[in-house]
Amino acid sequence: MRRGAFIDHVAWTGLGIAYTLSPAGVMTGRALAEGMSNDTIAFVQISDSHIGFHQAANPDVEATLTASVDAINALPQQPAFVVHTGDITHLSSAEQFDRAHSLLGKLRAPLIALPGEHDVLGNDFKPYLSNFKIPNATDAGWASWENGGVHFVAILNVFSFEKMGLLGNDQLAWLERDLAPLPKSRPIVVFTHVPLYALYPDWGWTTEDGSKALALLQRFDRVTVLNGHIHQVITHEEGNIRFASAAATAYPQPKPGTAAKPGPVTLPHDDLLRAIGYRTVQLATGNDARIVDRALG
Ligand SMILES: [Zn+2]
Ligand SMILES: [Zn+2]
Repeated sequence: MRRGAFIDHVAWTGLGIAYTLSPAGVMTGRALAEGMSNDTIAFVQISDSHIGFHQAANPDVEATLTASVDAINALPQQPAFVVHTGDITHLSSAEQFDRAHSLLGKLRAPLIALPGEHDVLGNDFKPYLSNFKIPNATDAGWASWENGGVHFVAILNVFSFEKMGLLGNDQLAWLERDLAPLPKSRPIVVFTHVPLYALYPDWGWTTEDGSKALALLQRFDRVTVLNGHIHQVITHEEGNIRFASAAATAYPQPKPGTAAKPGPVTLPHDDLLRAIGYRTVQLATGNDARIVDRALG
């Protein structure tokens, strides 16, 4: 990858990338803490595929999801899992869920898929749950699991969706019980669709009761919260909690406050491919997550 492109795509990394210029002039990126620990888990995040969307911003969302799936399948080391952080479909129709199920079924790694508000139109979770329910999830759909010494939590914040995210008291009570037995040193990774913090409330890019979840996460040394919904990479930190919104596989949205309202942004095709893609995440014991956003173009 060209140096400029590589730096563009490293949106945020907790442990940093060291650049070295070899005698041959080839730029390579290397994690600073590489080699410090063998206990590393790697996974991939994709988001906002909007299968069924046919507008000018991306007339072929199936092709760009397929390109993402192919790129992930071609990674030299397969991730432990691929998480899709929601808006799998555009309008929750049975046909769209069918297509999405078949396209995502081509992933070599196990898939964990959260719903976005586009997947539960009319607050009906049944079509989502019958296609993509997370393994070992509660009946309502949220879940947690351990992998590689990391505690992963998938929380759903598209209940009764009108403008912003909502977790609800049942899920918050479950989260409190789920986190209670964990030591503060346990790395925590949280997946959601809508940002948990007030990223841009004017556009609903926040979760009404998200601060209650963040209060439960504050005591841990290392928390990473990864979400979708806003169709662009934006990072943020609050204490020990690091947030990273992901790009879509479908189309970008405007930067906060740069348009009258959020919505699909139409770009020339090459620029579209530079604005969408997938994200690789690596966690090594004792280090922050290393997050690399990889554009399709
Ligand atoms: Zn979306
Ligand atoms: Zn959304």
